Amino acid sequence: MKCRLLFFICLLFSAASARAATPDTSFITPFERSGGTKTATFVETLDFYRKLRDSFATIFMGDAGLSDAGYPLPYVCYSSDSNFDKDNIKKDGRLVILINNDIHPGEPDGVDACMMLLRDAAKGKIKVPKNVVLVVIPMYNLGGALNRGRSRPNQNGPKSYGFRGNSRNLDLNRDFIKCDASETIGLEDLFTKISPDIFIDNHVSDGADYQHVMTLLATQHDKMGGATGEYMYNTFTPLLYKAMKQHGYDMVPYVNDFDKTPETGWKEFYEPPRFSSGYAALFHILAYVPETHMLKPFKDRVKATYALMECFIKEGAAHAAEIKKVRADDLAALANKSEFVLDWKTDTTRCDSILFKGYEAAYKPSEVSGLPRLYYDHTKPFTKKVPFYDHFVPSKTVTAPKAYIIPKTWVSVISQLRNNGVNIRRFSHDTTMTVTAYHIDNYETVQHPYEKHYLHKNVQVTPGNVSIRFYTGDYYIPLDQVAKRYIIETLEPTAPDAFFAWNYFDGILQQKEGYSAYVFEDIAAKLLKEDSVLKKELEDKKKNDPAFAADGAAQLDFVYKRSPYFEQSYLRYPVYRLE
Ligand SMILES: [Zn+2]
Repeated sequence: MKCRLLFFICLLFSAASARAATPDTSFITPFERSGGTKTATFVETLDFYRKLRDSFATIFMGDAGLSDAGYPLPYVCYSSDSNFDKDNIKKDGRLVILINNDIHPGEPDGVDACMMLLRDAAKGKIKVPKNVVLVVIPMYNLGGALNRGRSRPNQNGPKSYGFRGNSRNLDLNRDFIKCDASETIGLEDLFTKISPDIFIDNHVSDGADYQHVMTLLATQHDKMGGATGEYMYNTFTPLLYKAMKQHGYDMVPYVNDFDKTPETGWKEFYEPPRFSSGYAALFHILAYVPETHMLKPFKDRVKATYALMECFIKEGAAHAAEIKKVRADDLAALANKSEFVLDWKTDTTRCDSILFKGYEAAYKPSEVSGLPRLYYDHTKPFTKKVPFYDHFVPSKTVTAPKAYIIPKTWVSVISQLRNNGVNIRRFSHDTTMTVTAYHIDNYETVQHPYEKHYLHKNVQVTPGNVSIRFYTGDYYIPLDQVAKRYIIETLEPTAPDAFFAWNYFDGILQQKEGYSAYVFEDIAAKLLKEDSVLKKELEDKKKNDPAFAADGAAQLDFVYKRSPYFEQSYLRYPVYRLE
């Protein structure tokens, strides 16, 4: 009897130790199963996360609205204490890190890296400290992810992958202000609700060849400004470089060299708010765009992405209080800030020096054309210091008004403002007020559609005081709020990514009424007799402008445009400034 008991005890122990020795094969990703050659499909990704959520209390899933492809847009959270109330997440003081993947589904490194990252966090294989909440968009551009093929000939794997355009062929990383895509509306709503402290948008590079596996685009620090810009530039970004070096990766800033080879250095990439990181910067969120190098094997790129996400978690957790403080300081300082920059240019007089590991570039005859072609010689690697022009100076500024007033007819603009958490009030009765109105003096428009729009640029305006009757229900947008930068950069019509630039107000660019010259000749003659000032203006212009003096139609038009018959709405920008 004793002997049999001992036998059973031995059997139990050996079974237990056999179990312990068996490798943990649950939640193996398609990337791992394929030996690092495949990226997960939409179905595989969703299935993986659902199973993960069902198995671990620390994993939560939700939907950030609907994608243009017609499917709900999922997000996945990891929180060590199983607390995920997305509407209250910012109230409990934890650092929120938002990671976006597959905005360009041809660049899927983050998809597979994050699947392993969240699994390893759930299993306790990597530590996500209690003061951090991870929110991951597993696949942002679902329409593009479903449209699999091999549309990036410059890229070393995976075997097949999604397409850059979404289901309406929009590049979602140009959509953050114009907001044509449902994905953008859903993501911006999520931004508003969870108010992330750090935002990461995973990509794969295009462009030159060099040795680095991982490059990093940090939102431009001068543009970010304030304590946050300084903290990113002097502290947090250098910490990420140091941490990645410990993982064996020498990072360099995103190699922005589309016109030349990078061995003589390059200018920092400028990301206006149409880009994800430029948009996040409007809310003083530390924004980063990792760009792995396209020619490195997919497996290595995913590993580097995983390592960088780990660095973000570790450094974010260790410096959470500082990050929260600089962000809070800058958001509080907005109240007294009156000058805002609308556009920036590179300061070519200042640069930093970075250690760049490149390959010598050379030219040889093309087998296609017989003409000289560029190539990078892998037998000639080099390491040298190159200049990096990463300081920017303002090229256009504006003084913030006290508030903007928008007539209630402009519903699509109001809808964007609301989705971004803008505090909006409405007129409770009809009111006549003196406000500043901009006259659109000049603008240029691109010749071909850019992301579904005929984008306006180089917009010139003249401000003028006008008395306007506003009606019950019109919108009053005060500027004493955290969305101040977003409001100014979208509503000032000369800003490069203003709603005006993106055609939200094109109705005002067309004159609606006119005249028949033979009728207006007599009216104009009468007007000139009655208005000596107008008469003098006309005579002065004729004296100083011979072409005008010889052009009867131009003179008639001159009088018409200064007459009471000329429509007020033509070229009058309909968002008014209350100074
Ligand atoms: Zn990309």
